[in-house]
Amino acid sequence: MEPAGILLIVSVLLVAALFLLTLSLMRYRGTARELEAALADQTGARDRADLLLALASAVNSTLALEEVLNVALTHVGRLMGSVAGAMYLVRPGKAELYRESSYNLTTRARGGARKLDEEPIRSAVAAMRPLVVNLDERSAPGLDQGGHPQHALVVPIQRSGQLMGAMELYLNAWRELTDDQVELLNGVAAQAAIAIRHAQLFEAQEENALTDELTRLPNRRALAQRFLQEMQRARRHRAGITFVMIDLDHFKQVNDTYGHLNGDAVLAELASILSSGLRESDVCARYGGEEFALILPETNESGARVLAERIRAKVAAATFPGGLKLTISVGVAATDDAAIFTQLIDRADQALYAAKQGGRNQVRVADMSAPAPKPHATRTEPEPV
Ligand code: GH3
Ligand code: MG
Ligand code: MG
Repeated sequence: MEPAGILLIVSVLLVAALFLLTLSLMRYRGTARELEAALADQTGARDRADLLLALASAVNSTLALEEVLNVALTHVGRLMGSVAGAMYLVRPGKAELYRESSYNLTTRARGGARKLDEEPIRSAVAAMRPLVVNLDERSAPGLDQGGHPQHALVVPIQRSGQLMGAMELYLNAWRELTDDQVELLNGVAAQAAIAIRHAQLFEAQEENALTDELTRLPNRRALAQRFLQEMQRARRHRAGITFVMIDLDHFKQVNDTYGHLNGDAVLAELASILSSGLRESDVCARYGGEEFALILPETNESGARVLAERIRAKVAAATFPGGLKLTISVGVAATDDAAIFTQLIDRADQALYAAKQGGRNQVRVADMSAPAPKPHATRTEPEPV
């Protein structure tokens, strides 16, 4: 054969080999891509399972709403590649959602409240499904790392058709949601709804345990807790505290003459008179039976005396259910000496006893420099309520 012929055959063989090599390389790369995709899918599935597991365990192990919301937010945020996130909750009787929890947002980021009939919440809530929406200048909160996100993935949280809140996951780029992602987000939303409901029930139960049913004032247990807190605060601020003990005069006669139900109505009315006109930081509680107590932080003796006298006069001027005119006796104890804070209740009690002895319908102030009284030596305890 001529050299030209041999060269032609070799070239054809070389081209064929090159073609086959390229073909197998392409097939290999295709498989690799498939493999990569399969692996990614696996990781996605594992991440999704991890997330739902973490959420379920957070829901079951804690009643602290904040914790569950944080787990939901940060896990989903990581999975969806969001730069920040926030959880908004419905408050009873309000037409707005309020941000209760967030991550990677500047403190006091704008958008603390979301109107139900405005974006970014409106569309997702109307569709009751996760949606990616654009954020405008007004609604985009500030990011920790600086700037504002352009988009948000909004996930409505509902239970039995009732909206409980919404999750906002902030994205730097627009993206379409896959069916898998929508399914996952719905799963998260369902867990979050359970957590929110549990936490709400728990809070209501706590509230009830600390509230007097008849007057809706804090009860004695709540009063004891607040007194401890106020003593600690007063110590820190080197401030004084006043404790006031109030007892209805001759209340037994009201019950005996007008009946127990009228007596109850009288107590409810007295509670509203006592608690009106106090400062936000003051505490007005039902101590027991027909006895009430006030804690007046950062109030000195002369201020407390004026306040107690004003309350006494207000009660004496009021007309109670059944057209009754009633009076109260008041014992006041005030000090800014932290060493004797714990004596305040007994001192106020002793002063109240003195007011009763003095003829009722009057205010007595304890002499804090006198020797300490024996605990509850002066009277019998009121019935617990
Ligand atoms: P004093 O002026 O010495 O305080 O006389 P008083 O009659 O108010 O005092 P006493 O302690 O003898 O009577 C308190 C009464 O308060 C007796 C009790 O039946 C009544 N009481 C306590 N708790 C309630 C309540 O929740 N509802 C009603 N209707 N009465 C209550
Ligand atoms: Mg009494
Ligand atoms: Mg009484």
